[in-house]
Amino acid sequence: MEYLPLFVDLKDRACLVVGGGEIAARKAGLLRKANANVTIVAPEISVSTKSMIDAGEAVWLNSLFIGEQLSDQLLVIAATNDEAVNRDVYDQAKAKNILVNVVDSPELCDFILPSILDRSPIVVAISSGGQSPILARQLRARLETLIPPSYGRLAELVGRYRDVVKEKLSTLAMRRRFWETVLQGKVADHVLAGRDELGEQTLNALLANNDDVELQRGEVYLVGAGPGDPELLTFKALRLMQQADVVFYDRLVSKEVLDLVRREAELIYVGKQRAWHAVRQDEINQLLLEHAQQGKRVLRLKGGDPFIFGRGGEEIATLAEAKIPFQVVPGITAASGCASYAGIPLTHRDYSQSCIFVTGQLKEGELDLNWSALVQPRQTVVVYMGLAGLPTLSQQLLKHGLPADTPAALVQQGTTENQKVWISTIAELPNVAEREQPIAPTLVIIGHVVTLHKSLAWF
Ligand code: SAH
Repeated sequence: MEYLPLFVDLKDRACLVVGGGEIAARKAGLLRKANANVTIVAPEISVSTKSMIDAGEAVWLNSLFIGEQLSDQLLVIAATNDEAVNRDVYDQAKAKNILVNVVDSPELCDFILPSILDRSPIVVAISSGGQSPILARQLRARLETLIPPSYGRLAELVGRYRDVVKEKLSTLAMRRRFWETVLQGKVADHVLAGRDELGEQTLNALLANNDDVELQRGEVYLVGAGPGDPELLTFKALRLMQQADVVFYDRLVSKEVLDLVRREAELIYVGKQRAWHAVRQDEINQLLLEHAQQGKRVLRLKGGDPFIFGRGGEEIATLAEAKIPFQVVPGITAASGCASYAGIPLTHRDYSQSCIFVTGQLKEGELDLNWSALVQPRQTVVVYMGLAGLPTLSQQLLKHGLPADTPAALVQQGTTENQKVWISTIAELPNVAEREQPIAPTLVIIGHVVTLHKSLAWF
């Protein structure tokens, strides 16, 4: 991070703007918005600068820039059209250890003015580190749509009730939960929809009736983290990841995804690796239950989709029995993620009218699958956990009549930067795996759609 974002209180602090043109006026205006004491140095000034000065918004020093003008200034912005003057401002400010910004010259800037989305008291600042102000502005435009102006009013409402709530709810955890209920529930809905009064009434009602039991109740979020690329998370996954107290994750959850979990949350690894289960399934079920009973918001983060070879059903069964509330958030399963990122459509009008997901996990060295269903023509078979049992899988499919030249692919660590795709036939695939030694997780895709990889690979 080349620049540290800081929100600086400039109220009544002396700030200097060197230059009397339009750009200087804009910078002076920005400083004024934060209630700084602005002095403008310039031998001539533009109309807009003059109107600022006439309005008492800034003081005008009618002169050329000299170093003495820097004394007692917190910061200075140079916005003249004379490079030598700008450079002089920079050098002198540096010598006096005053923060300096020379407009449009990133190399002459101690600080940069970000692109600002002002929903006061919410303020979002975006910087491209001076590399591309236009990109920063475009991002701000996107945020404009995501963060409507009403957010300012919502934040203001929360601000007004902070002290009252603090008095009423004794612990930090209770207050955080209260505010999350407010900000994710009806109160926020009302305010964001412009029904501020109703929003405030609802907040008061919540505060009055709030029985602590309700607010102390734990919950489990069983969330699919997708196949690896963090951008494949759902909005809902991300939102719940941001409000969890404790997170149980396994090996399939990528580091990039984990980085998006609320920083304060406790992260607990519960493993899951072939033949090496760090924590046994019944222990995981028990852990989820215990933490929820302690009133925590428990995030169970699983690779892909929790209901596809994820044992998600078993985990929530325990919770349902104990009457612990839970929600299940689907994720992009490995078959979808790998197929898309490998350019292998799972179905195709010409090649495949159905698709089957199976587990290739060996049980005592054997694969117990419905072989006759798997060797049907015009379908795609996706094998999860199929790497270790690949020779058995291949033999059995051939034995049950799948043509030896049926195209088949291995997709290693799909959707991540380590993704690799090998294309072969079902007869040859075990040799490919033997030779190439793909790293887990790896997915097997079998069927004629695999040939499309050649023309459709894009990632
Ligand atoms: N619930 C998960 C699957 C868990 S089973 C999901 O919906 O995706 C674990 C198997 O999934 C692995 O053995 C592998 O075959 C497959 N898998 C998961 N993520 C993968 C990825 N990024 N690339 C390739 N295969 C993956």
